Amino acid sequence: MPSEATVGPVPIRPEIAALAAYRPGGAAPGPNAVKLSSNENPFPPLPSVTAAIAESAARLPLYPDNAATRLTTEVAAWLDVPAERLSFGAGSVSVLMHLLSAISGPGDEIVFPWRSFEAYPLAVNVPGATPVQVPLLPDGRHDLDAMRAAVTERTRAVLVCTPNNPTGPCITHDELTDLLAQLPERTMLVVDEAYIEFTTDPEVARPLELLDDPRVAVLRTFSKAWGLAGFRIGYGITHPTLAGAIRTVTPPFSVSIPAQAAALATLAERETLLAQVAEIVSERDRMVGRLRELGFDVPDSQGNFVWLPAAEQTDRWAAHFAEHDLIVRAYAPDGVRITVSTPEINDRVLDAAAGLR
Ligand SMILES: *Cc1c(COP(=O)(O)O)cnc(C)c1O
Repeated sequence: MPSEATVGPVPIRPEIAALAAYRPGGAAPGPNAVKLSSNENPFPPLPSVTAAIAESAARLPLYPDNAATRLTTEVAAWLDVPAERLSFGAGSVSVLMHLLSAISGPGDEIVFPWRSFEAYPLAVNVPGATPVQVPLLPDGRHDLDAMRAAVTERTRAVLVCTPNNPTGPCITHDELTDLLAQLPERTMLVVDEAYIEFTTDPEVARPLELLDDPRVAVLRTFSKAWGLAGFRIGYGITHPTLAGAIRTVTPPFSVSIPAQAAALATLAERETLLAQVAEIVSERDRMVGRLRELGFDVPDSQGNFVWLPAAEQTDRWAAHFAEHDLIVRAYAPDGVRITVSTPEINDRVLDAAAGLR
């Protein structure tokens, strides 16, 4: 109720008061329940990563390196992008919020797909811009024609999520280049690649190859494939001017000392971690295949999760999984998203899913 949203005589901004706070995936209620509602990595942290975090604790009284100097150098070398294009934040959700604050405000519009990542409406409303949500196609892909059609002269950015959370399909490179070519000059293209490491579709969009266009911004995270969700670290790859603006908007010292240490140790373990990603990918493909055999209309999944389009059955299906001690993410009235986990847990998911047929 916006009319009640005052602090004494001080009003809360109505667009903020009207928003629901970000709703995290449900916690596992019992000792046997498994949380499959937040797309977390099922592997335990590597010893070298926990050791780096433990060592970093000696620097607890000190502020972190605000420029994340070593990490910036390492990520720039890894991705073969200039360091001046990188900006780090407490998760890529923070980077997105700071990016949108840097380019938009009241009267501006941000176009994004829906159903997509829960944080998008929040990230658009915080700087006071207007969310323009474009429904997905029935197969869970972005409706890029409709998104283009939704662009007006007030559109500061079109935000795409590839692969899309929660439905799974990615955008192809041709689709992304077409979209970029058709955007007005003053509209940015923000590409959320939170799950890019899990993609196997050879056609998947490669926005890093489009960075010559200053309007392209890419968001990535250490939370999913790299297993650092708890330490909060993500980054943007953008035009250097925008990277500078994002750094200006970001609260100082947002990326903690242990987070920077963990990310550096993680980069050193890339091969091991990518082998784990390959295991998750093979499990994902197994799950999609089996769920389709069971008759579920599962879209292509390029992330570490599968989507069951449950429509009006969403809450009932989620409750059914909960009865089997499997906590999934219900997005009524669209469907249920289930994080891919270990083979044993995935088997439990498939058994429970069979019970829905
Ligand atoms: C998980 C996720 C992110 C990243 O979250 P952080 O933990 O803040 O880095 C970004 N976009 C999408 C679509 C996600 O699912």
